[in-house]
Amino acid sequence: MKFKIPFNKPYKSEKALYYVMDAFARGHVSGDGIFTKKCQNLLEDRLEAKQVLLTTSCTSALEMAALLLEIKPGDEVIAPSYTFVSTASAFLLRGATIKFVDIRPDTLNIDESRIETLVTDRTKVIVPVHYAGVGCEMTRIMEIARNHGISVVEDAAQAVNSKYKGQYLGTIGQLAAYSFHETKNFICGEGGALVCNEAQFEQRAEIIREKGTNRSQFFRGEVDKYTWLEVGSSYVPSDILAAFLLAQLELIDEITDKRRYICERYASMLEPLRKIGVLQLPVVPKHCEWNYHLFYILVDSLETRSRLIDHLKSESVHSVFHYVPLHTSPVGRKLGYREGMLPITEDVSERLIRLPCYYELGLTEVNQICEHIHRFFSNEGVI
Ligand SMILES: *Cc1c(COP(=O)(O)O)cnc(C)c1O
Repeated sequence: MKFKIPFNKPYKSEKALYYVMDAFARGHVSGDGIFTKKCQNLLEDRLEAKQVLLTTSCTSALEMAALLLEIKPGDEVIAPSYTFVSTASAFLLRGATIKFVDIRPDTLNIDESRIETLVTDRTKVIVPVHYAGVGCEMTRIMEIARNHGISVVEDAAQAVNSKYKGQYLGTIGQLAAYSFHETKNFICGEGGALVCNEAQFEQRAEIIREKGTNRSQFFRGEVDKYTWLEVGSSYVPSDILAAFLLAQLELIDEITDKRRYICERYASMLEPLRKIGVLQLPVVPKHCEWNYHLFYILVDSLETRSRLIDHLKSESVHSVFHYVPLHTSPVGRKLGYREGMLPITEDVSERLIRLPCYYELGLTEVNQICEHIHRFFSNEGVI
């Protein structure tokens, strides 16, 4: 079905085409060419990050983090269930046991007050996911990690250019992963980055990313041949993708501003409905700066959600929901999890609707979507 207002449109800048053509003309289309370097430098400067390495996806970056931390069978990883599969699968691939935690009902982020009860002497990692680009309570999470000698890997897939207490998300934990997938704010189709915030990881990260070899050092002339040093994989993206990405990263502020107008318009148009308790809107704590990654509403029940999605569909507006909690998915069940174990996650996952939010979406369209939502609730007789 074709919608008048689709759920997402990938942002395409014309500059991307020139950069891609340039990469092509240079004849360096494998990884780690000039555009990869430019993207990494831009991100390192802007985010004040020690080391940023472009990867083929955020999933790859999370897998690299699990390799860097030498996760092995028997190790335990604490993560939310209300997230995308890669948050957990990157560690499951190394044989870890995932301990799912429930989320906070306000930001829908990992509930930091429930983390400590899950810590055992086998706990190796906490993986906070900055849902919608809003920061988890990192001060408390880092404190718990420090007290117990645990590492923190931020799943910052959605949080490029967001801040927590003045610090960019992705630069707080020992390691972090960003996504440049088509559905995110800054994109190259499929792509991501690993952020290393401690010097101890820098060399090994390069090696793991290059199939376990010291090829990066070889190209810099630091060694006279390259060889296999540890278990790694193929995590380097093509410079063509980096060229596409650079064009977007150079427009970080412009893209963010555009998304801000959209989210602020949604918030102000829907505020009257929130005030009378018909729906809940995203909560951004005072100490968090948001990148406006996604705009969601929470309605009162699964039934209302299905009817509202249908209503919007009948007006040719595409809205979607997510996530099926990881702990009630077929894999989660196999791991021994059952419905009822994480009540807030289960409740939210049934009531949340994501509204269209993308660069090309005009404020007139946002107004229309909000009017459709108002009309829906007035037809329901609740306003
Ligand atoms: C998008 C996303 C990922 C995966 O990103 P890819 O780049 O597609 O691998 C992982 N975690 C979260 C929270 C995401 O939103």
